[in-house]
Amino acid sequence: MCYAIPGKIVELDTRSATIEYYGEKKKAYTDLVDVKEGDYVYAQGGFVISKVPEEEALNILKDWQELFFQLQETDRKLSNNPKTIYQRANAVRQKYQGNSCCVHGILEFSNHCSQNCFYCGIRSDNRNISRYRMSVDEILSNVEYAVNKLGFKALVLQSGEDYWYDEEKLTTMIKQIRDNFPSLIFLSIGERDEKTYKRLFEVGARGALIRFETSNRELYSRFKPGSSYDKRIDLIRNLRKIGYLIITGFLVGLPGQKSKEILTDIQLTAELDAEMFSFGPFIPHPQTPLHNTPLPELDTMLNAIAKSRLMSPSAKILVTTALETLDKEKGAREGLMAGANSLMINITPIKYRRLYEIYPNRAGTEDDTQTRIDAVLTLLYSLGRAPTDLGI
Ligand code: SF4
Repeated sequence: MCYAIPGKIVELDTRSATIEYYGEKKKAYTDLVDVKEGDYVYAQGGFVISKVPEEEALNILKDWQELFFQLQETDRKLSNNPKTIYQRANAVRQKYQGNSCCVHGILEFSNHCSQNCFYCGIRSDNRNISRYRMSVDEILSNVEYAVNKLGFKALVLQSGEDYWYDEEKLTTMIKQIRDNFPSLIFLSIGERDEKTYKRLFEVGARGALIRFETSNRELYSRFKPGSSYDKRIDLIRNLRKIGYLIITGFLVGLPGQKSKEILTDIQLTAELDAEMFSFGPFIPHPQTPLHNTPLPELDTMLNAIAKSRLMSPSAKILVTTALETLDKEKGAREGLMAGANSLMINITPIKYRRLYEIYPNRAGTEDDTQTRIDAVLTLLYSLGRAPTDLGI
């Protein structure tokens, strides 16, 4: 995914490349790959990921051409004449971000967690779930499949806060991926120290998914015992300074959250310079202290997406799996039509995916990855969106 359209480098200024495809120009950094003007490349999230042989690139561009312009036309029609707040947000998305839709693969490689967040099914106190850890080799073979066979160009490697994966193991893993399976690597591994994150950046990680969950300090300390709000926010800021692309956001519907606080959460996400907004409905897990919490309405979520888009026209805004779970029929489509422009596809083997139960009945848990890719492409094409994200 995000793989289909290569571009040609038409200008190169030290490490900043201007990439053109079908007359559109995007900027991307080239610190991951050595390139020159005239090369064809895949880029993702503003980074050049790999070179593409010219003949292969031209063939792909030819195959895509008709569909590419058809999709743009469909998107334009669907974004016309906005009236509701959702339609206005969608029109802003169309104006500032075009029809690109970023599609990351997410690999959940361990459900062990040393933390005990009240809102999470894999919290350390939950003794009722089976725990698993993928070996580094197993992770690499899943990444190989995702990159080489399924065509993913951006991957999120996610786990609980599991220190079995020490700096050395993580470094080996990232280096191997970078050297063998070109892709934009995001880490979602919790509050590691800055030194570890720096090292992982040096060996090739480029993104960090780390949500602050709530901007309400009182709720934060109540529901995330043993963690400091200030420390977490500082870590996110420092990761951005290191150079990481940040995916961050919050939960909607935590007990005690006031509706006006959602706006503060959106503002904080923007202020943290998030490359991608990631916020989902709070779906309670039966084996957690918050098991009785009612679900938020779909409209509350769509409203948060629309407001995020109006506040941050150029952001990527994710349709989270939790939103798809909240409304399996309409969640993803309506999220995309309210201003969102990113999706994630779970590439974790199903036997593990079932155990990564941060909340129950997650959408897509039982679908094989190819089925899910087909469903996502059908949805995106019906809305005039292209699964590509070359740069800015
Ligand atoms: S939310 Fe994250 S840190 Fe908290 S218990 Fe769940 S996996 Fe662990």
